[in-house]
Amino acid sequence: MSSSSSSSSFALRVELDLWDDVLCYCIELAPILPQWSRRNPGRQYYGCGSYKYGTGGKNCGIFEWATRETDVRCQIVINPLREENADMLREIEELMIAEEKLRKENNGLKDAVQELKRSKRDLMRAVICLFVVVIFLMIVFVL
Ligand SMILES: [Zn+2]
Repeated sequence: MSSSSSSSSFALRVELDLWDDVLCYCIELAPILPQWSRRNPGRQYYGCGSYKYGTGGKNCGIFEWATRETDVRCQIVINPLREENADMLREIEELMIAEEKLRKENNGLKDAVQELKRSKRDLMRAVICLFVVVIFLMIVFVL
């Protein structure tokens, strides 16, 4: 991607076989990462090899573009697609929250249905017992 002969603010560049690998100030292999700013959507840069995304760990702050500036036509295409993607991701998150809420509500309704079925069964038993008692009393009074 980049040659060792180009001017650089990097601490160290090393050549390994066919590849020009870049080391950050931590003396770690600098990963090539995508930049997602509006001006450079998808443009790649070298970042800190020690940094672990989401951990808030150390970061030597190294930053150097690995690829050319993003073409304006690409910006025109990529930026609206990224915004649309972000909207869809938000919508998916909202739908997942709604789904979880409906799942809990459904479980509550299933429990209520089971309780109603138990009540109905108990009521039917009571009606049958009452019917038997009435029949028994009618037989006793008639005889
Ligand atoms: Zn570093």
